[in-house]
Amino acid sequence: MQGLNQDVLVLNSDYEPINICNMRRAIGLIYLGKVDVLHSDSITVHSATTALVSPSVVRLKYHIRRPMPRLRLSRRSIFARDGYTCQYCGHTGKDLTIDHVIPRRLGGRTDWENLVCCCRKCNTKKGDKSLQQVGFALARLPRRPKWIPFVSLTKFVDGRQNKVWRDYLPHFGHFGETAKPD
Ligand SMILES: [Zn+2]
Repeated sequence: MQGLNQDVLVLNSDYEPINICNMRRAIGLIYLGKVDVLHSDSITVHSATTALVSPSVVRLKYHIRRPMPRLRLSRRSIFARDGYTCQYCGHTGKDLTIDHVIPRRLGGRTDWENLVCCCRKCNTKKGDKSLQQVGFALARLPRRPKWIPFVSLTKFVDGRQNKVWRDYLPHFGHFGETAKPD
């Protein structure tokens, strides 16, 4: 019974990611005819009587209504919104922090519109100066995300590491917004 605890991405009928479940549950959904398999991994799950190619992404045949989830403002949610990318220089990596675009000293607030993901280098350079003072420009205007993943933020961020899943997990910070020129 190899791989039965492997994660499977479940999409709503409109392709919105709605859940991440284990293989056992996914196979149950397939067996009940509730989902279509969109992607399978090459490993095969053996049970007593059947051999199934293990599903990786499944899509519900019927639409499930779900409540609008709430996303708490936190370092993690800002990082996730900004794709773990410095909004000033485009650096991606582990040495990231949070920057107040308008420094607190100048009345900048701690909210979705004034916090961005920022690398330590840019953070040090910027200090408590304004964007104009240091000649920085934002990659995109920080906003409260309009679309919030229904799956947990941790699972969502981890899921984006999966090459197959990534296509089905929209970047919830990206809404085609571009930074306004000053
Ligand atoms: Zn940077």
